[in-house]
Amino acid sequence: MDLILAVFLEDWLVTLDMLLFFILGLFVHFVFFGSIFDIYFTSPLVHGMTPQFTPLPPPAKRLVLFVADGLRADTLYELDENGNSRAPFIRNIIMHEGSWGLSHTRVPTESRPGHVALIAGFYEDVSAVAKGWKENPVEFDSLINESKYTWSWGSPDILTMFAKGAYGDHVFTYTYDADSEDFGAHDVTKLDTWVFDKVKEFFHAARNNQSLFSKLNEEKIVFFLHLLGIDTNGHAHRPSSREYKDNIKLVDAGMKEMVSILEHFYGNDGKTAFIFTSDHGMTDWGSHGAGHPSETLTPFVTWGAGIKYPQKVSAQKFDDAFLKEWRLESWKRQDIHQADIAPLMASLIGVPFPLNSVGILPVDYLNNTDLFKAESMFTNAIQILEQFKVKMTQKKEVTLPFLFIPFKLLPESKQLNIVRKARSYIKQRKYDEAVSLCKELIHLALKGLSYYHTYDRFFLAINVVLGFLGWTSYAFLLIIKSHFNLTRGVNKEVKKPSHLLSCSCIAIGVFVAFFLLLQDCPWTYYIYCLLPVPIWYAVLREFQVIQDFVTLLLTVPPSYFVGYLLVFILGIEILVLSFFYRYMLTAGLLAFAGWPFITQLWTRAKSISLSWIFFSLLLAAFPLMPVVGRKPDIFLVMGAGLLVLLLSLCVLTSLIKRKDSFINEELLLHLFQMLSVVLSMCVTYSTHSSLRKKQGLPLLNQIISWLILAFSLVLPLLSPTSLFERLFSILLSLMSTYILLSTGYEALFPLVLSCLMFVWIQVEQETLQQRGISCKQKVTSVRFTCSTDITQFRQLYLDDVRRAFFLVFFLVTAFFGTGNIASVNSFDLASVYCFLTVFSPFMMGALMMWKILIPFVLVMCAFEAVQLTTQLSSKSLFLMVLVISDIMALHFFFLVKDYGSWLDIGTSISHYVIVMSMTIVLVFLNGLAHLLTTKKLRLCGKPKSHLI
Ligand SMILES: [Zn+2]
Ligand SMILES: [Zn+2]
Repeated sequence: MDLILAVFLEDWLVTLDMLLFFILGLFVHFVFFGSIFDIYFTSPLVHGMTPQFTPLPPPAKRLVLFVADGLRADTLYELDENGNSRAPFIRNIIMHEGSWGLSHTRVPTESRPGHVALIAGFYEDVSAVAKGWKENPVEFDSLINESKYTWSWGSPDILTMFAKGAYGDHVFTYTYDADSEDFGAHDVTKLDTWVFDKVKEFFHAARNNQSLFSKLNEEKIVFFLHLLGIDTNGHAHRPSSREYKDNIKLVDAGMKEMVSILEHFYGNDGKTAFIFTSDHGMTDWGSHGAGHPSETLTPFVTWGAGIKYPQKVSAQKFDDAFLKEWRLESWKRQDIHQADIAPLMASLIGVPFPLNSVGILPVDYLNNTDLFKAESMFTNAIQILEQFKVKMTQKKEVTLPFLFIPFKLLPESKQLNIVRKARSYIKQRKYDEAVSLCKELIHLALKGLSYYHTYDRFFLAINVVLGFLGWTSYAFLLIIKSHFNLTRGVNKEVKKPSHLLSCSCIAIGVFVAFFLLLQDCPWTYYIYCLLPVPIWYAVLREFQVIQDFVTLLLTVPPSYFVGYLLVFILGIEILVLSFFYRYMLTAGLLAFAGWPFITQLWTRAKSISLSWIFFSLLLAAFPLMPVVGRKPDIFLVMGAGLLVLLLSLCVLTSLIKRKDSFINEELLLHLFQMLSVVLSMCVTYSTHSSLRKKQGLPLLNQIISWLILAFSLVLPLLSPTSLFERLFSILLSLMSTYILLSTGYEALFPLVLSCLMFVWIQVEQETLQQRGISCKQKVTSVRFTCSTDITQFRQLYLDDVRRAFFLVFFLVTAFFGTGNIASVNSFDLASVYCFLTVFSPFMMGALMMWKILIPFVLVMCAFEAVQLTTQLSSKSLFLMVLVISDIMALHFFFLVKDYGSWLDIGTSISHYVIVMSMTIVLVFLNGLAHLLTTKKLRLCGKPKSHLI
């Protein structure tokens, strides 16, 4: 009785220990995850600058900004099949009235960042990622805010963004209702005609409204017309469509009317400046967000007060062939960056440059005196220098004086020098020199801004990496420790850690905290910097284990050691690279195929080695194929089903041969499972053909599909627990579901994967025998059992590290074998058509999740068998997987992207999350696999027995 209690207590303590470790691990990983938002995704904006404006009268009283959302430059400028322009009004402006060029946008090419660059003059900061893309994640100043009055018409998503940031009551927005479903549903050009109609009404009403009339005659006012039709048409019909091009015509005609109404209203006073551009372009297939030229090249046309007239030139130097294509060779093209538009607009109507603007005034567009140009450029330089100064002061304030490293290229003396020199140039009327000097100052200040923005990055990254390394070493030490405990027995007295260590750790902790306190750091910094201290304390406390491990290492020949280390590093790198290039999985699988030749496996077991090589090569083909979901191919799905049936026939006959007393019940179960595979093939085929005929999903098919899904989870539990029979039963069940969820070649994937897994189990058995470990039983006679006998666990070998690596590799293959993260995000609806056709995100998501999980479950079930036959303790296994995945996570920590399209940024974050959560997913999957392989249900009225 005492013995039982003792065992129970020890068991309980071990679980408690593991639970503590688990909670601690979760916390540490949450901190590591959160750290990227403090390191990479911080707002570059600063506040506290004084507004800067040019002390000369501006050329225009008012500005009209047309933004045609999602308009590509080439579709606007090029001539159609008949040699006519799609936008005759705009072309006429280019040839007779104003200036033109391309506006180069930055990624992400989305509406929000595009408009922020246009109107506020800075490139949307990625901290928006952390704040969920809500309106105004950060406070910023804009042209609209600086204007006296702004009237804007268009989409609520864009207009409210600038109205909310503005102070006072000087921004008026007119938006259509975003929620009214049918608005523009049939004809999205309504989105544009709505804007034009409202503007017409507005000016008509202004004639009879005295207060509005006087407001309209003020200076420094802005009209902003946001035209969403082209973007919506592009998404729906692609930019090459009739709809997209006709929408351009409509916008062109609408603008012509708007301009004439305005000019008429103001009596052609010549005090209106016009700007026409778009926020981003669009790819040929109707998307935007990334950095393809079709997305980043947008049109820019401007005319009216203060803008240069067309300049005839004989030759223009550009790398592209656009000018010739568009037949605009003889009209001077001036390209600008998107953020430069904001200072241009500000200088046209004489308002201060938006405070956070990093745009550089394109002086070549201005039709004004050289004095005005030089003064405006000077204002621009001072305005950007202000931001630099504020940013530097902020950093200096929170850094200890002896630790502060200023930006070397622009010390205070140099700033003063350049500013003074530029002033004197202007006085001496050397305007060109003044302009180029100001440009130099701007470039230096911008460099300095990004220097101070990433100032803390290095310091924080070092701390996080220290924590990461400490944590990984700790997990590694736990493996080593359990290994030594097993070899040496637990009885060996444990040395108490010295007081010196704990005291010095506390001292370091206090010192770090004090250091952070002095620098006035945010509270999150304390976590990042203090976390490594206890972690490293825990590591160093195990000094004895480290010492033992080093002595053990010294007994190994160095060439061996270096060789193993190199292979390990190579393996990890292949895994990391496979997240970016799926074909790296192929490379890894090819290496797997060559593996039997290195070991003695080839000489000992030829047939097993041959099948291992064959299936490795077969599986290696999958990552080379295109991502699933492009083209449905129902015949491949049928082929996969037939192969499953063929395989099960073979297995069935061999089973009958081997066992003379093949129980009827089991035979029946096998046949039933085969029947369900046949059924799912029929359902898939008939559903797809009926959908092709547009007859919808037959109800019977839907019922059968759900039944198969439900049975697939129960049927394996009825099969005998002998290793191969149970695994085969699981495969049959999962395959019948997978076929229902497949649309193409991916149906073959789990089949090939599990064949390789079957061989893997036998290979591992062989390798264990090579080591001279006598195996009590043959693989065929092994049974899955629920209770694990602790005495069976043995000490660890290097082979176990390889096993853990194989497991991680197969899991990654199960995930990326038929797709990538992007295809998981935008999953193909066609694959759930057998289950439902009504749009229901939750159900569809759950079904897709199950489809992704099926290969994982197959791998884990096979691994359960490997664990059983090789008597590997699952605790050490999880620790090994933890070490591997954390080393990978460290890679992805450095690969997090804070630039590029939202998709790039999001993908880099999800890579990081995936590898960090790998261990947790593994625990869950292991539980599921354990349940699937060991539980046994009985039919025929017998009570549900727990296990055999
Ligand atoms: Zn847009
Ligand atoms: Zn769009």
